Amino acid sequence: MSTATPAPLRDADAPSGPSAVGDVVAGARAAQPWWEGLGFAGRKKALDAWRVLILRRADELVDVIRAETGKTADDARLEVVLVADHLRWAAAHAGSVLRRRRVPSGLLMFNQSATVEYRPLGVVGVIGPWNYPAFIPIGPVGAALAAGNTVVLKPSELTPGVGRWLADTLAEAVPGPAVLRIVTGGGETGAALCRAAVDKISFTGSSATGRRVMAACAENLTPVVIEGGGKDAMIVAADADLDAAADAAVWAAMSNAGQTCVGLERVYVVAGVADRFLRLVGDRAAALRVGDRPDADLGPVLLPRQIEVVRAHVQDAVARGARLVVGGAESFAPPHVAPIVLADVPEDSVALTEETFGPVLVVNRVASVDEAVDRANAGAYGLGGSVYTRDRSRGRAIAGRMRAGMVSVNAVIAFAGIPALPFGGVGDSGFGRVHGPDGLREFSRTQAVTTQRFRPVLQPNSFGRDPGTMRTLVRMVRTLYGR
Ligand code: NDP
Repeated sequence: MSTATPAPLRDADAPSGPSAVGDVVAGARAAQPWWEGLGFAGRKKALDAWRVLILRRADELVDVIRAETGKTADDARLEVVLVADHLRWAAAHAGSVLRRRRVPSGLLMFNQSATVEYRPLGVVGVIGPWNYPAFIPIGPVGAALAAGNTVVLKPSELTPGVGRWLADTLAEAVPGPAVLRIVTGGGETGAALCRAAVDKISFTGSSATGRRVMAACAENLTPVVIEGGGKDAMIVAADADLDAAADAAVWAAMSNAGQTCVGLERVYVVAGVADRFLRLVGDRAAALRVGDRPDADLGPVLLPRQIEVVRAHVQDAVARGARLVVGGAESFAPPHVAPIVLADVPEDSVALTEETFGPVLVVNRVASVDEAVDRANAGAYGLGGSVYTRDRSRGRAIAGRMRAGMVSVNAVIAFAGIPALPFGGVGDSGFGRVHGPDGLREFSRTQAVTTQRFRPVLQPNSFGRDPGTMRTLVRMVRTLYGR
């Protein structure tokens, strides 16, 4: 089993850098017609073989993820489970979602048969983050491949080994030209991929980098999906199952040491149950084990600069009068940060306006669910969210009022584990979707085709039309649609 410290790069693993991007994209482009030619059934067979190989070597993937991120074995295992499920779904459903289908041509165009289909774009560039180096890229990679594209993946410079492992196992499972290719290096390599005239870029990372990605892609009008950061909130109503809500809140905030885009950062709990909820959260958070020990619940916070962001958020909140319920200055033992729970944090402090991305949970009391919704919706991000109430239909109604791409009622982050559901946000959390039918269509170009079945009685699209044709058509639409 690996240690929590990243292994040094071997020479053979030296970053390919920006200069390699052009050749790698050209290779992916050359392989694409072959891959598209396999059709949905052929690609499903290939992607299924890849999934089976990944699962056979699951322990190896867990080791590679842990060696590069230091995350706990269970956090790495969760990635492997999600990778397999999402890959299976994309391979199984690409045909039914994307293949040609007829649509009604309408009364006025009755003589036409109309079809729509979703064809591959060509080469898709995927830029991934380090926090879920296998699960996050597999969303766009799996969907783009299932749709008939080839892919060039730029993993984070912190996790190149996971990217390589994915590409190597696909090449092993599927003989033929490599359909998933890797470029490695830092931000400048990602920027080169954005400028390489690929047919789409799927970016997952911070919203600040997302803005740079969009600017670079604008040069070639390369379309983009931006999966940016988040500041997810949970709303706890007075009738909630408080034990379940507290348990879920602590897991959603602290697992992966808080380095999860849809991690929980804020709870708005109705005042009548706030004290009891805070006690339950505090007890659970304080009991978590932190460090390199094998039974640890929290591994390290990977980036030293992120530890300083977390520290600054906590210090600012406390300076503005927030109450420390669990942890404090003593929680920081780099690279580890023990759980911190803050209460009564002023809404304009950075701990509530910016992404903290560490094991910190803010719990604020509110007078009503209406106030909770207003506060949850106040920020610039809109990625995920959750609601706890025993009344499920009320829960769904509250979810509908949240400005978030995904919401779970009486659960946390459940949407990420359902491959049929689209994943993505609004506002500073980005746009476009991975996962589900929307994710498959995201990596396709829509093509509408009409085929004339017989000559129409009235032919408006001709200068040789009858003088009365247009007047007859207007009479027809008035009769049909004018009431
Ligand atoms: P970054 O934005 O720092 O990096 C993301 C990727 O972009 C990395 O591969 C990075 O390379 C690359 N990159 C950096 N600069 C450029 C550039 N100018 N052009 C193109 N690519 C570039 O994010 P992190 O890796 O630190 O990930 C954490 C962030 O990701 C958090 O904000 C988190 O919320 C968000 N995230 C969002 C998710 C979502 O689905 N919405 C899911 C997971 C994380 P390198 O690392 O080599 O510098």
